[in-house]
Amino acid sequence: MKKVTIIGSGIAGLSAGCYLQMNGYDTQIFEAHNHPGGVCTSWTRKGYTVDNCIHWLVGSSPSDNFYHLWNELIDMKGMQFLDTEEWMRIETPDGRCMRVFTDIDRLEQEMLEKSPADEGLIRSFIGAARKFMGFRLPIDKAPETYGPVDGLKMMFGLLPFMRQLKKWSSISIQQYADRCSDPLLKRTFESMFIPETNVLFVIMTIVWMHKRSAGYPIGGSLEFARQVEKRYLELGGRINYKSRVAKISVKNNAATGIVLDSGEEYVSDIVVSAADGHSTIFDMLDGRYMDTKVKGYYDSYETFPSYLLVSFGVARKFDDYPRIIILVPEQPLTVDRVSKCEGVMVRIFSFDPTLAPEGKTVITAMLVTGEHEYWDNLKRTAPEQYKAEKNRIAEKVLELLENRFGDVRSKVEMTDVSTPATFMRYTSNWKGSFEGWLWTPRVGFGGMRKTLPGLENFYMAGHWVEPGGGLPTALKSGRNVAQIICKHNKKKFVTSTP
Ligand SMILES: Cc1cc2nc3c(=O)[nH]c(=O)nc-3n(C[C@H](O)[C@H](O)[C@H](O)COP(=O)(O)OP(=O)(O)OC[C@H]3O[C@@H](n4cnc5c(N)ncnc54)[C@H](O)[C@@H]3O)c2cc1C
Repeated sequence: MKKVTIIGSGIAGLSAGCYLQMNGYDTQIFEAHNHPGGVCTSWTRKGYTVDNCIHWLVGSSPSDNFYHLWNELIDMKGMQFLDTEEWMRIETPDGRCMRVFTDIDRLEQEMLEKSPADEGLIRSFIGAARKFMGFRLPIDKAPETYGPVDGLKMMFGLLPFMRQLKKWSSISIQQYADRCSDPLLKRTFESMFIPETNVLFVIMTIVWMHKRSAGYPIGGSLEFARQVEKRYLELGGRINYKSRVAKISVKNNAATGIVLDSGEEYVSDIVVSAADGHSTIFDMLDGRYMDTKVKGYYDSYETFPSYLLVSFGVARKFDDYPRIIILVPEQPLTVDRVSKCEGVMVRIFSFDPTLAPEGKTVITAMLVTGEHEYWDNLKRTAPEQYKAEKNRIAEKVLELLENRFGDVRSKVEMTDVSTPATFMRYTSNWKGSFEGWLWTPRVGFGGMRKTLPGLENFYMAGHWVEPGGGLPTALKSGRNVAQIICKHNKKKFVTSTP
């Protein structure tokens, strides 16, 4: 039985582990942190659970093919997913508001009513969403394992959508937003996702939400990750927590195992890194296995930014609000020395009663920043100032919430601020990026290799080899690596359900 070492117990690492176990490999995971999930995590403070990750999980209903993959890892029938009528609401200081409904007919009506001057842009955007209703991503097989028939089948399936795929992946959200004449519609597009991402990403998200296949799992992100961890352990996998990998051992240009920070060595036939891409390539392998293509990603591709998560546990209910409100303050909120936040994304977690005691609510605000180094340096070199900055931000957000909802300040029982320094410490993601590579128009559909040039018995999985990131992508990435390994070893890839 071949031994496989997997680095990282994020969703990609757990997925690779599950599928390799299903296929008769003897795997063990080494994880720096003390629990599973990677960025898909939550934490508890004073009886309140702060959820870091899942806004929506693609594949939450059987109408989507991702459901069937999730069902190989989790008993999906036993999960409770919550869909929403209103994805988000954008409120501007002039008293205007746009409701982003998940039903595209209602969304079209709302946009036309609020921003009639931009009818052409609205109809084109909604029209594209209607066209993609019948689109299914080809996810069952790793492209690296395709034979000629698979390639033809894939092309045939994509053909009716080719023109639309090309059109909407070639323009960024920001470029589309800039065409709007109404500032409210512009702000709406800008708020839907990271503005450098292509518009296709948002269109597909709306399609999934419309089809009720992008729900939120009750219990939150860590609970969700624990379900996948459970499956991995039941399949016979082993996880070594608090085990940071320092080096990947290599002999004759083939990976032979790993060395931990502690100096302990583990030998295996194959190594899969589902950890941060930059530290895998440049630290664990000392940059020895690279070509201009791989180097080019790290030199010039854009990453998802980092962020601060400001959270409050509030001793009251917030029943009649959508899950996400984008609050646009009169003056942009200063996050740090370069980043200003023009629209603050506030999540009101009334919809998940498991996260707060009865009658109480968790509210979080996510503030995006490109200044991961500033926060990291501040934490290390000036802890008092770091604390003061965190307090300043918390106060700013609280002021915003008080102005919008009233009766918040006096009811706050818990305040928690995580920064890019926190995120990097706990997840080791390069630059504190929350989702790996941005799927910008430049990136296109090429995909990234899951191997490194010149290195045998080594594979990579997760959001550093899958532009756009995301949980279903992490699942698919781990599954694909298992398929590639099986093909290499001339094994038929098999799956099972819990
Ligand atoms: C705020 C936020 C919101 C998001 N919202 C959504 C959403 O709504 N829907 C969605 O689909 N996706 C969402 N995502 C994205 C999604 O969660 C990620 O893309 C996905 O979980 C990435 O999984 P991964 O396994 O590739 O990487 P990670 O989760 O980063 O896992 C990597 C693991 O490797 C470990 N590791 C790193 N270095 C080492 C080392 N040297 N030794 C040992 N272990 C190591 C880390 O500790 C970590 O556990 C969100 C992410 C964030 C942060």
